[in-house]
Amino acid sequence: MQYLSIKTQELVSIKQAVINGLAGDGSLYMPENIPPLPPSFFRDIQNKTLPEIGFEVAKQFVGNTIPPKVLEDMLEEVLNFDIPVSLIRDSIYSLELFHGPTLAFKDIGARFMARLMSYYAEGQPMKVIVATSGDTGSAVAAGFYKVPGIQVYILYPKGKISPLQEKQLTIWGHNIKALEIEGTFDDCQALAKQLLADRELRKYHLTSANSINISRLIPQSFYYFWAYAQLKKNHKKIVFSVPSGNFGNLTAGLFAYKMGLPVERFIASTNINNIVPKYLSTGEYKPRASKSTLSNAMDVGNPSNFERMKALFDGNLDQFKALMSGYYFTDEQTQAAIHNVHKEFGYILDPHGAVAYLGLCAYLKDSGRNLNGVILETAHPAKFIETVEKSISARLVIPARLSEFKQKEKIVHLFPVDFRQIKDFVKTS
Ligand SMILES: *Cc1c(COP(=O)(O)O)cnc(C)c1O
Repeated sequence: MQYLSIKTQELVSIKQAVINGLAGDGSLYMPENIPPLPPSFFRDIQNKTLPEIGFEVAKQFVGNTIPPKVLEDMLEEVLNFDIPVSLIRDSIYSLELFHGPTLAFKDIGARFMARLMSYYAEGQPMKVIVATSGDTGSAVAAGFYKVPGIQVYILYPKGKISPLQEKQLTIWGHNIKALEIEGTFDDCQALAKQLLADRELRKYHLTSANSINISRLIPQSFYYFWAYAQLKKNHKKIVFSVPSGNFGNLTAGLFAYKMGLPVERFIASTNINNIVPKYLSTGEYKPRASKSTLSNAMDVGNPSNFERMKALFDGNLDQFKALMSGYYFTDEQTQAAIHNVHKEFGYILDPHGAVAYLGLCAYLKDSGRNLNGVILETAHPAKFIETVEKSISARLVIPARLSEFKQKEKIVHLFPVDFRQIKDFVKTS
């Protein structure tokens, strides 16, 4: 499979797409076409393990650039934790994507990406740049920690992420550098883009670990198949509600759909940073500055993967609407959902999962149909302990691998929103 840059349609190999991150023309890479998986794959999908599903799906994306045995081992390593499909209530399931090392779904993308990148880099030194509103940074740090030859620079907005999130991305040292930026997430994202586009920095082999990198999205399509495999026995059509910020997760779902996964509909669930739900209802795409919310990993004012979704739908609003619905919710609604779901069904949502839950319920109510609904539960509730404990009026049990982060010292480099200073740091460290 070849990959093309969205703007100028330049064709590159998967290796180039992964190494470059962002295309030379400043746009993102897309698979040239997404071939469907054979019917035989779906026929006995319910009997396959998660790494087996991952292998079949990944093969479509990487072709013969990686020997089957190497790819198989990679997937065994990446997917070495459970992704349970838990029943919340009648016909509504939670796809629990938070059982990895940093307790967020981004572990899956970051772990696969680190392995793919180090395989394709063939020993050449690289610098990985990542802007984060919370969970990306820690997942990327954990995924790349001590990977030889790869330096990682994490840009995060000062004071805009939870103390625990900050710990999770600043305690690493070694090849991981945490840059605390006196600005918003959008500033961080803009600075990262600028670093990646800088000609002078090219000789340092910079690349991005944000969901602009196609290798983050590939493994995120696996678990849509996995969820389908677990629910196939119900013989009901499936709706996925995806709590979205940069829309990498949802785009990966669309890849799965293009590969033949039977999906009735995708719900784009957001907080008040509602650019995509607004686009779906008005046809106008109006990026704007992000606003801070309780589901802060989705505080994005200009979702980077929108251009990928647009490419998939040929920029056609009707095509978008045929497969996607959008809903958005306030912090008050989010807290009420966490409260109610805990009280009525004994299930504890994190703020992002709660937004997905609200989106799913809104759609099921609007459509009035009998479907299986799956929310993507993207973070462990203990990662957002203040919000969750306040909402459920009870204490949470904190998993050991989360509390371990608290004991360690943070190592940070503070910067104003100043491209020159940051560029110098990346050059010299
Ligand atoms: C990153 C993140 C999201 C948003 O995912 P996108 O792929 O950027 O849409 C949702 N929830 C959590 C917990 C996240 O960390």
